[in-house]
Amino acid sequence: QPGEPARAGAVGGAGRFVLVTLQDLTEQRRLERMRADFVANASHELRTPLASLTGFVETLQGPARDDPVARERFLSIMLQQGDRMRRLIDDLLSLSRIELKAHVQPETVLDLASLLRQACDALKPVADEAGVALDIETPETACPVRADRDELIEVIENLVGNAIKYGVTGKKVEIRLSLAPQPGEGGRTGGTFVMSVRDFGPGIAAEHLPRLTERFYRVDASRSRETKGTGLGLAIVKHILTRHKARLEIDSAPGKGAVFTVRFPVAKDFEMLAGDIKGVS
Ligand code: ADP
Repeated sequence: QPGEPARAGAVGGAGRFVLVTLQDLTEQRRLERMRADFVANASHELRTPLASLTGFVETLQGPARDDPVARERFLSIMLQQGDRMRRLIDDLLSLSRIELKAHVQPETVLDLASLLRQACDALKPVADEAGVALDIETPETACPVRADRDELIEVIENLVGNAIKYGVTGKKVEIRLSLAPQPGEGGRTGGTFVMSVRDFGPGIAAEHLPRLTERFYRVDASRSRETKGTGLGLAIVKHILTRHKARLEIDSAPGKGAVFTVRFPVAKDFEMLAGDIKGVS
């Protein structure tokens, strides 16, 4: 009211307070909805292989009891379904473990270049089996980032693993790591390490790109199942990267392959302590 600034302020304040509360409620409802959807999706994903397993047990107890050929075939499918359930449970546990520490940035400083080379060495047998060549280029010097070793390996395994699985037709996966210096600072007090994984496969249509990191989102569910996917890999990657203050960009178009790029902040304090990142091992 004119002439009553204090009261007017109080009313304004109260109005703002109500608005904030409503926004919180809406956000809370949204989170509850997401959680409920997640539980429903996870249950559905687990129920499918379970139904297949119990179905085959019934068949083995009944019609296929005395048919050794059918029995062998059904047992091998049952083994695959059991394996699928295990992968789903492993990924669900990974996701909830990472969510619990979502806001805690890792302390340890690691050399991203040697970690990337090690993780790619470990993936070589998978690439060889698929007939895909891994082409890796990393700086000779160390690339210090604040990171959790196991989680970074999980990120690399997911991105390179997907490039092998989905980009297999291109026969080659390019993995690059470089330093993008902060303008004017020569990368010594800032900047980012840019890690990219490029495949030359069928690529992904634009409408799917923003949804790829959603839990259980798959462009082609049957292809994903065929390649043993759970639909949780990129959701796990996104959560790990958030905690590392790193950013994921996905660039792709049908027929043009796909590039997954991650930008990691350079571990600055460590750089100051070491003086020169060249000496870091
Ligand atoms: P999945 O376990 O199914 O591989 P992800 O979360 O890792 O799940 O990936 C989600 C979906 O994104 C995949 O099902 C696939 O459709 C698509 N995708 C991921 N990486 C690629 C790629 N390099 N090329 C084409 N499609 C991809």
